[in-house]
Amino acid sequence: MVAASIYKSLRYLLKRPYTRQVPRVDTPFKTPVTRGGHVLDMAKCTGCSMCQQVCPANSIDMVVVEGEYPQNPRKRFPRIDLNKCTFCGLCVEYCPFNALSMTTATGYELFTTDKSTLLKQPMDLKPLAKVTITRSHFAAPYVKPYLPRSGGGEVA
Ligand code: SF4
Ligand code: SF4
Repeated sequence: MVAASIYKSLRYLLKRPYTRQVPRVDTPFKTPVTRGGHVLDMAKCTGCSMCQQVCPANSIDMVVVEGEYPQNPRKRFPRIDLNKCTFCGLCVEYCPFNALSMTTATGYELFTTDKSTLLKQPMDLKPLAKVTITRSHFAAPYVKPYLPRSGGGEVA
């Protein structure tokens, strides 16, 4: 067992480092379930604030946007600070109206030297990259509160 580990380590000593030179040589590594920058469908969003409430990173606040939105009379939409976002996808999973989704925009595509540009207004949450994660990605929607306890288990 130990000999196998040492052998494996020695083999890697002789290999070249695995470095992807993005974007100069390689394209960014993507998967069909990459969780990157969000898309907001303003025609579906009702302004319910569920996404804001479930966000564990406190990345979402609600702002008023002028315009005609019959399904959203208060005209309140989520604004997302991608600088705080951990890309957990909870906001997408819990949006009751399938208004939020996520795209392949991540990594260097979100790189900036000005953090303020990562505060995305509702109008900025457009599909600038391929949509990968929608609510349907989450097989079992959240139905019961689950709080980890010392013994584990669901809370009734
Ligand atoms: S992906 Fe997670 S951290 Fe990012 S805005 Fe949505 S809920 Fe918040
Ligand atoms: S994006 Fe979804 S969860 Fe967030 S306010 Fe709009 S309808 Fe509600």
